[in-house]
Amino acid sequence: MLKTYTYPEFAYRPSPEQQAGQTVCHLSLALDCATRGVRTVVLDDNNTVSIGSRAVCYAKRTLEIWDRLGLGESLAERGIQWQVGKVFFGETQAYQFNLLPEAHHKMPAMINLQQYHLEEALVRACEQHPLVDLRWKNKLTALSQDDDRVQLSLENPDGCFELQAHWVVAADGANSDTRRMVGAHFGGQVFQDRFLIADVVMKADFPTERWFWFDPPFHRNQSVLLHKQCDSVWRIDFQLGRDADPEEEKKPEKVIPRIQAMLGDVPFELEWVSVYQFACRRADRFRHGRVLLIGDAAHQVSPFGARGANSGVQDADNLAWKLAMVVQGLAPAQLLNSYDDERAFAADDNLRNSTRSTDFISPKSRASLRLRNAVLELARSEPFARPLVNSGRLSTPTPYSASALNTSDADEFAGSMQPGAPCADAPVEVNQQSRWLLELLRGGFVLLSFGPGAEPLH
Ligand SMILES: Cc1cc2nc3c(=O)[nH]c(=O)nc-3n(C[C@H](O)[C@H](O)[C@H](O)COP(=O)(O)OP(=O)(O)OC[C@H]3O[C@@H](n4cnc5c(N)ncnc54)[C@H](O)[C@@H]3O)c2cc1C
Repeated sequence: MLKTYTYPEFAYRPSPEQQAGQTVCHLSLALDCATRGVRTVVLDDNNTVSIGSRAVCYAKRTLEIWDRLGLGESLAERGIQWQVGKVFFGETQAYQFNLLPEAHHKMPAMINLQQYHLEEALVRACEQHPLVDLRWKNKLTALSQDDDRVQLSLENPDGCFELQAHWVVAADGANSDTRRMVGAHFGGQVFQDRFLIADVVMKADFPTERWFWFDPPFHRNQSVLLHKQCDSVWRIDFQLGRDADPEEEKKPEKVIPRIQAMLGDVPFELEWVSVYQFACRRADRFRHGRVLLIGDAAHQVSPFGARGANSGVQDADNLAWKLAMVVQGLAPAQLLNSYDDERAFAADDNLRNSTRSTDFISPKSRASLRLRNAVLELARSEPFARPLVNSGRLSTPTPYSASALNTSDADEFAGSMQPGAPCADAPVEVNQQSRWLLELLRGGFVLLSFGPGAEPLH
């Protein structure tokens, strides 16, 4: 039970017998498929949203995807918008950065929003859509597939039954049962360091910025991260080291003095406390016949850089249009191989960044610690050292530079929008009305033509 939020209980209803031809999948993807006229069934073994404190930060690109699905503006308004981060070393600030120094973007650089608020907003949007069939308390227990169908064994409060689908999108998280059922290998690195999450309710007038401390006086030899969330809830992550006892560390008598040492006289109440460890790993393939892995089921990263949920939504954005074209008979199933190619490439980029952040935040040897501290010291006065500081490289989309879907061109591309890169947003004027470029590109393939003599195509 939280002080600022009551977990909703979504209504369970018995499942009618299913017909083949439906897809079973997850929230952002279900919404995206629905906007493309594809009906989906979403199964969840629970009947509420994410419990406790998990994801906080959602990046501009992810907000742009939700904006396409009709949720961007309301989420940006509900969340805490920020773009400035400050990095402290010891007693004082080492430097600060700005994620989006230029104006004229529809979506903010980043918002902070508790994961349960985000999930509830997605559930409510799915509930409004006649093409999304949400089924709570339906657990997938077994799966088999042939060339045409996937056979799912499900268990709900009324018993066990079978369901058939043409395609299954497995979004069942880091401990994915589906991944095990299709025999995917899930390999990578598990980190030993433990971190304490303490969400506190407090009225503080700190600016809405990301603050990251290396070796602060109130938590020596470790790191601390502070984020403002909505409803006056603040998220604090304390690095605890490898040998910390999670049960001991969660006790209020241990947590409260840590927070008091950090905040001084500011009054607060504890909202949520947990201790976590993390891993950086991914499935060998994201497509297994008619089963596609997405989100944490496909890849798991450390929280530094906010790349978990953000990359899951980008998986959905990549997969939805391809799946819709295949389901509607407009493209061969082979198109789905490009989901595997492109998103596995992006997952490797996210894993690389998140592993490097983790190595910087918790150096594994005395030599790496000395090097890390020297970089932080240098960053105070020398701008060239700042990009070497790594308190989490915050989520940005990965350009699919080597994708087979890019058409080659004899011309060189100048600038950052190379083939395979996401399109940047910009204000545009259409018939004397101010619009946003990304709003105009929705709905399919678009030819953008620049320069003199460019005639509109019809
Ligand atoms: C401490 C922490 C901080 C984080 N911070 C950030 C952040 O700031 N930004 C960010 O982008 N990411 C962050 N993340 C990562 C983010 O929380 C995850 O990446 C995200 O929740 C993954 O979403 P998902 O839908 O893939 O899986 P999940 O959220 O794990 O959802 C899986 C769903 O599948 C259901 N399920 C499981 N098994 C079955 C089954 N057999 N049958 C039916 N249903 C099933 C579950 O009930 C659940 O609803 C953080 C994570 C942690 C732990």
